[in-house]
Amino acid sequence: MPTGPDEFDLIRRHFDWAMRRPGVVLGVGDDAALIEPPPGTQTVISTDMLIAGRHFPADTPPDAIAHKALAVNLSDLAAMGATPLAFTLALGLPAVDTDWLSSFSTSLREVAGRWGCDLVGGDTVRAPCLTISITAIGTLPVGEAIRRGGARVGDCLGVTGTIGDAALGLRLALGDGEVPPGLTQADRSHLLRRLERPQPRLAVGQALRDRAHAGLDVSDGLLQDLGHLLGASGLAAELDLDALPLSAAARRWLVERPGDIDRVINGGDDYELLLALPASLALDPAWGLTVIGHVESGPPGHIRERGGRTLPGERGYDHFRERQT
Ligand SMILES: [Mg+2]
Repeated sequence: MPTGPDEFDLIRRHFDWAMRRPGVVLGVGDDAALIEPPPGTQTVISTDMLIAGRHFPADTPPDAIAHKALAVNLSDLAAMGATPLAFTLALGLPAVDTDWLSSFSTSLREVAGRWGCDLVGGDTVRAPCLTISITAIGTLPVGEAIRRGGARVGDCLGVTGTIGDAALGLRLALGDGEVPPGLTQADRSHLLRRLERPQPRLAVGQALRDRAHAGLDVSDGLLQDLGHLLGASGLAAELDLDALPLSAAARRWLVERPGDIDRVINGGDDYELLLALPASLALDPAWGLTVIGHVESGPPGHIRERGGRTLPGERGYDHFRERQT
């Protein structure tokens, strides 16, 4: 079915919300947007692309896709300590389905409002499969960004939330392997929700941006991302797997299938923050962090489990590697 210009005008109307926050001078409707960040701030920009069947199951509901597409970008802003301001959306659609678009745009508008960013532009094209690329724009005070390099020997490694829920949720969504029979319906709902609706840790990132020594968001798997932080900082770490923050659902899963700890630490899609910071900050209950290890001197990127075993630090989820195997 050919898609004419009128259909794309219709699509675009789903995304002209006419919201204007301070800092957004001109949004959707002109050749380009105009942004005026507050004085004394730097602009933070991050892009992520999601493809149906690769980054989420093709039958994922449109409201969940919209949530995740924006949340994963805002998680990168959170990791830098930024405050969201605006985003652009590039949408590749295999067909024009107005019900799908309506649900997608309603959800996108809701989450954008919740996290304080305007849609300021984008493009829509016909594509072989559903493809969503969002570029998120945020601001932070000059010089206060949390970067990957900068961890110091003796720093605590603190992580927000819980780790591994999304990786286990993906197994549920794909019917990939055996699911522990002891898992309750509430456990299943929790794990799927964590997969489909990550919550960017914006408040923690903003609160600790001038105090954490280094940090990033866990998107590719805890071990791989910890390896990235350590590599950028030129240091090593001791990791205490017994200290990993796990949800009740993940704990019940691992009681029956302890081997799936491998999925928990390598699976990715957590969108929690991993920070290297002094113990006084890491242990402050205000931030809700769990200390999972310490930075130490050693070969850059080297991770050893508490007790001596060396962990593979580069085994996280890799879309291209997965395609090759
Ligand atoms: Mg990231």
